[in-house]
Amino acid sequence: MNIVGVIGAGQMGAGIAQVSAQAGYRVLLSDVSLDRARAGLAGIAKQLDRAVTKEKIAAADRDAALALIEPVEGASAMGDCDLVIEAATEREEIKRAIFGDVGAVLRPDAILATNTSSIPITRLAQAAPDPARFVGVHFFNPVPVMGLIELIRGLATSDATVATVEDFARTLGKQVVRANDAPGFIVNRVLMPMLNEACFALGEGVATIPDIDLGCQLGLNHPMGPLTLADFIGLDTCLEITRVLHEGTGDPKFRPAPLLVKYVEAGWLGRKTGRGFYDYRGDAPVPTR
Ligand code: NAD
Repeated sequence: MNIVGVIGAGQMGAGIAQVSAQAGYRVLLSDVSLDRARAGLAGIAKQLDRAVTKEKIAAADRDAALALIEPVEGASAMGDCDLVIEAATEREEIKRAIFGDVGAVLRPDAILATNTSSIPITRLAQAAPDPARFVGVHFFNPVPVMGLIELIRGLATSDATVATVEDFARTLGKQVVRANDAPGFIVNRVLMPMLNEACFALGEGVATIPDIDLGCQLGLNHPMGPLTLADFIGLDTCLEITRVLHEGTGDPKFRPAPLLVKYVEAGWLGRKTGRGFYDYRGDAPVPTR
């Protein structure tokens, strides 16, 4: 495998592009426009600069990784890729449209993977050029830091596809767990109900934002509280995943908390928009309720 395409240059796509380039792959990075793809590359450069400043990597390694990433215009530029990883917004219609575009140019032996957090792989595969060469490859945020990839096979995913992507994941230095194609796979099936419940607790006035976070952080021995984590993931992403769990299982225990819906409707999506359960626009995060 030589050339990896990454579609979507947001938090996850940029991280996937970064770790792929650091592992020596050539990376084509696209988004809704060339400018957005370039902005993704600029964000990666900032991350790598920080790593150099902290003496985690050498300046030469930063330069080598950046030289391997090429921002390109649209999914239709992915014709030379051996593996294309879709990491666009968590909306099924967006992903389906991307698969149509990339499917028109993808080589017959190339693999298409999706970083979806929750949409069923078997259903998404119907929009892919070849369901046998389609697989879920679920990275965690922030991609350069988190050591796990969930690999999810759809009904038609071939053994060869799974083996190739598993080998690729290992070359990035990640550990792999295999999950069946069920709503939320492993980690989000367990995590999202906790984040959603924290939103219910806040909405019902059980405690303040800082107390919910500190209580769970120290009481559960987690690295951060659930509302901080939800802001970090993106509240829109959390809501989409919770809706998929709700619809996919039909179980009312997964219904989204009204307060989570309200924050998303307000455009307060967490760190990426500067405001979610905390306001990040000043020197230190300030609770928004
Ligand atoms: P994000 O909002 O940071 O980035 C999404 C990017 O997709 C944006 O840059 C947007 O412009 C781009 N995009 C939208 N439509 C597009 C199109 N038609 N073509 C190309 N690009 C398009 O979101 P994110 O957090 O990076 O999430 C991306 C994917 O990764 C989602 O499927 C999400 O569920 C999944 N994911 C997210 C996390 C997380 O913690 N945030 C973790 C694992 C997986």
